Amino acid sequence: MIIKPKVRGFICITAHPKGCAANVQEQIDFIRSRAPLRNGPRKVLVIGASTGYGLAARIAAGFGGKAATVGVFFERPSTNGRCASAGWYNSAAFERKARREGLYAKSINGDAFSKPVKDRVIRVLKDEVGPVDLVIYSLAAPRREHPETGVLHKSVLKPIGESFSGPTIDTDRGIIKEIHLPPASKRDIGDTVAVMGGEDWEMWMNRLGEAGLLEEGCRSVAFSYVGPEQTWPIYKWGTIGRAKHDLAKVCQRIDASLRSNGGMAFISVNKAVVTQASAAIPIVPLYISILFRVMKERGLHEGCIEQLYRLYATQLYNDSSANLDEAGRIRIDDWEMKPEVQNAVAKLWKQATNENLKEITDYAGYKKEFLKLFGFGIPGVDYGAPCDPEVVF
Ligand code: NAD
Repeated sequence: MIIKPKVRGFICITAHPKGCAANVQEQIDFIRSRAPLRNGPRKVLVIGASTGYGLAARIAAGFGGKAATVGVFFERPSTNGRCASAGWYNSAAFERKARREGLYAKSINGDAFSKPVKDRVIRVLKDEVGPVDLVIYSLAAPRREHPETGVLHKSVLKPIGESFSGPTIDTDRGIIKEIHLPPASKRDIGDTVAVMGGEDWEMWMNRLGEAGLLEEGCRSVAFSYVGPEQTWPIYKWGTIGRAKHDLAKVCQRIDASLRSNGGMAFISVNKAVVTQASAAIPIVPLYISILFRVMKERGLHEGCIEQLYRLYATQLYNDSSANLDEAGRIRIDDWEMKPEVQNAVAKLWKQATNENLKEITDYAGYKKEFLKLFGFGIPGVDYGAPCDPEVVF
């Protein structure tokens, strides 16, 4: 069939298998254009490995460091002639390309929050891989069924304390609109912390540790975001910020436990990029459209793969220790947060209107990146040619 993008708000319900494979190849090519990682990771578990930062973490470890990778994700295979999700196609392409390169790659599709999926991963590691030396925790999930209580927690993106009104881009219509968000209830806050906080990361690390599957010196990293003041009411000070605060607290416990065996845990604060998760956050499409313009003009533009290469090469696997901020976090959002970048963003943020949106921001770049997440708009892919949506691992 001919597969075309069908965008509904902040998701695209179709995905192109060849486009997704080309997207993965582009990231592999980027990694190959850089110096190989010296003393990089050898056996890596990536939780949330199919799209965005997790996919980049897997590609950078595999193709930059020749690491064996086990990837966990929750993606939809193709059924009844319908498209699979982009993360399915990405992961199938990654496995194919990794194996062709002689790299071990195994993918586990299922709910990472659940006990059965943790059991499956532990079995694979025990039988085929052995203890891991890097665990990347990169889940961005809308909900979590708690494995012990059975309660279904749904994460929300809401301000805390007071309501919030601010501009965002209505991506269906390509116009700036005001959004109004009511303050989160106590329950909203608790639910979001349950989904996006650190409890599940710690459960993973405990299970791996108990099973003897954490190599001496093992590192673990989870991702966070800080961003500029414009985003704080709904990010840093909102429900997701509360969850990230919890993640940071849990990181200290995981760090203490890994240190007893020569390892370490980190929070890496990453830059704002277009992913399926970030597209769902109000304000972000407008902020990223402005940020992209400013960073591209200064030659500082990065996507997930550039960020992850920098994380490995300059922080985790450099010859000295990682460069941490006052709160003990790695900051690969450093270029985004440069004062010259943020001053330029703040200026454009005040000026942006419907009339000048396309001239003063990189909204075109935002939209291009968004479609690329689903394998569309990639040079060299023949979108007019029929394509089988069914791709198996
Ligand atoms: P993403 O939507 O691209 O990826 C999410 C991943 O989680 C996918 O692999 C998906 O399959 C997986 N997943 C979701 N629910 C799952 C479940 N129940 N079981 C197994 N896998 C599941 O998201 P992303 O933007 O790459 O976010 C990853 C992390 O990076 C998050 O912690 C996010 O807060 C952080 N981060 C993102 C940005 C950004 O701008 N996108 C910036 C800084 C930090």
